[in-house]
Amino acid sequence: MYDVSKMAKLKYSIIKGSVQKRDTQAENLSKVFYRNFVKKISGDQISLSSLKDVFIKTVPEKVGISFLSMGKNESDYDGFMSTMIRGKNKKICGYQVYLPTDENGKNLKVENANVLFHEVRHVFDSLVHPKAIRRQNYISPDLQAFYDNTIYVSEKIKIGEMKAKIEGIIKGLSTEEKIDFLQFCKNELSTEINAFNNEKLYSKLRKTFKNLKLKTKRFDDVEYFHLKDRLKLIKKILKYELSLARSENKKLYG
Ligand SMILES: [Zn+2]
Repeated sequence: MYDVSKMAKLKYSIIKGSVQKRDTQAENLSKVFYRNFVKKISGDQISLSSLKDVFIKTVPEKVGISFLSMGKNESDYDGFMSTMIRGKNKKICGYQVYLPTDENGKNLKVENANVLFHEVRHVFDSLVHPKAIRRQNYISPDLQAFYDNTIYVSEKIKIGEMKAKIEGIIKGLSTEEKIDFLQFCKNELSTEINAFNNEKLYSKLRKTFKNLKLKTKRFDDVEYFHLKDRLKLIKKILKYELSLARSENKKLYG
C-alpha cells in the first residue's frame, strides 16, 4: 500500500480517536473553510490561488494542496479530487482539487461553489482518515470500476440485486481482498455522503450573498444516489465477512 506522507494527513495527536470524532473534525474544518471563503469573496468569482489561501488558512498544518481547472474534457463530472503521488516509493503527499473554471482556467464562479464545497470535504475527510486514502490508492482497477459502475450510480437498483452483484464480485477474492474492498466501499460511500451534505453550505451562501446570481437548486443528492441505503448494505456484508474471517482464524490458530 502507498504510504501517506505528513503532507497528506493531520498529526496523529490531532486526529486520534474514534471515526466519529474524526468525522466531526472534518466537518468543523468545512465550516471554517466556508467562513474563510465568504470573507474572500468580493465579486461573482474567486481565483484558484485565493482558494488555496483560504484552504491554507483553514487547515492547522502544512499539507499539499492545489486547486486546478478541470479544462473542457472532464464534462462527465462537475469536479473531482485526486491524490498527489510522488517519488519511487509512491508516497501520497497531497491533494488536487479540480474545479470548473472560466475560459482562462484561473477563476471559479461563486455560482459553482457547491462543487468546491463537495470536493474540499473529500480532502478534509482524507486528512483525518489517512488509512482510507491509502486503501483508495491500493484497490485494483477492476474493483474500482465495479464501484464506479455498480455501486456509486444514480439509477435506483433494488438493494437485493446490488447485494447479489457485490457477492458475485467478491466471491473470487481472498479474505483479505474482500475485506479491503468492502472497507474501501464503506469509506467511499461515507465520504460521498459527507461531501453531498457539505453542498448544503450553498444555501447559506445564497442567504449571505443575495445580490449574486446563484443556483436555486436544493442540494440533497445523498438521497438521489441512495447512498445511505447502499452504505447500510455494505456495512452488513462487511460485518458478515469479518465474522467469517474471525472464525476461520480461530480454526487455524485458536
Ligand atoms: Zn464526491
